[in-house]
Amino acid sequence: MNFAQIQQQEHDSMMPTYGRFAAALCEGRGALVKDVEGKEYVDFTSGIGVNSLGYCDEGWVKAVSAQAGKLQHISNLYYSPVQTELAARLCALTGFGKVFLCNSGAEANECAIKLARKYSVEKYGKERTTIVSLLNSFHGRTVTTLAATGQDSFHNYFFPFTEGFRYAKADDMASVQECVDEHTCAVLIELVQGEGGVMPLSRAFVTQLADFCKQRDILLLVDEVQTGVGRTGSLYCYEQYGIHPDVITSAKGLGGGLPVGACLCTEELGGVMGPGMHGTTFGGNPVVCAGALEVLSRVADEGFLQQVREKGGYLRRKLEAMPNVAQVRGMGMMLGVAPQKGTSKELAAACVQQGLLLLTAKEMLRLLPPLTISYEEIDRGLAILQQVMAGRDQQD
Ligand SMILES: *Cc1c(COP(=O)(O)O)cnc(C)c1O
Repeated sequence: MNFAQIQQQEHDSMMPTYGRFAAALCEGRGALVKDVEGKEYVDFTSGIGVNSLGYCDEGWVKAVSAQAGKLQHISNLYYSPVQTELAARLCALTGFGKVFLCNSGAEANECAIKLARKYSVEKYGKERTTIVSLLNSFHGRTVTTLAATGQDSFHNYFFPFTEGFRYAKADDMASVQECVDEHTCAVLIELVQGEGGVMPLSRAFVTQLADFCKQRDILLLVDEVQTGVGRTGSLYCYEQYGIHPDVITSAKGLGGGLPVGACLCTEELGGVMGPGMHGTTFGGNPVVCAGALEVLSRVADEGFLQQVREKGGYLRRKLEAMPNVAQVRGMGMMLGVAPQKGTSKELAAACVQQGLLLLTAKEMLRLLPPLTISYEEIDRGLAILQQVMAGRDQQD
């Protein structure tokens, strides 16, 4: 099928939930991907921060195929050696005590929210269940994680939303203090707001918030769905803020391309979710866990993380030096670029036409390249971006 036919099939048979770019992708290697017409693209998206090792990484393909050929699924009524190995590895690498495995970022956040509420209800009673999240945040698409998301544009159509969320201003302790009261059980944050426009929180705010929560036995839940698994230059982003959250959630880059989510909590909270209180059919699937184990075995290496920081720094310097760039922000290889002219959407579409895949986040262009991208591929992608930006410049 050619592109027009695929587009037609999508139009005829799928709910129109996505605004898609004009490319049908079918094969890739590293940071390069081809469409059905054979055109090649440099990929600065990794899916949306998912393919942390790039397309079809050799070790990852081997690990996943071997597991698929051995045992593709068992129910969570039985023990699974791949699953327990992944959980143990996550605990060993982070110092967290216990893990719940699920299938997505939203599900990982659902687990964190349930855990926080149950902990608080058991210790302080049914009136202490409110969760404070931040304005401009994004936490997922389920009815509860939409409620947790601090953007009004997500609070439409699907009423009634889950109750018990309040929204504080990022980097504003006074606003947090206004939202917190005797009913508050947790604070939920992204350290770098991804969908909200690649906005890193300030270190001062985050450390104050962590102290504030600790003093009141309010759980600090950090949504690392986008920032985790090496993306910002450390295995998890909270390490760079010098804090110890009570709970973190992980997904996107963890499976290297397969759907996985994880909710990690401290040893102290490890028993809050008891038998029968939470579960999932697919969570911790052996094939997915084999992929995640391969990702962790590569990414959780100081040399690898050093390279992420170096490549991130290189990207940032090159972007800052580009004409028509108003601002660059973010951490590691999670970068946002504010264009001086043109909207992020039209620039990203023009880049796709020229052979570069880019994401947007509100008014920002957003870069989440595979962590394994080479300097050559970075340069090739940046050259396209520069050309598109310069072309846009000349239109006015
Ligand atoms: C993508 C994202 C989610 C939702 O993850 P899904 O896998 O799409 O459910 C939640 N939180 C953050 C910070 C994200 O970036």
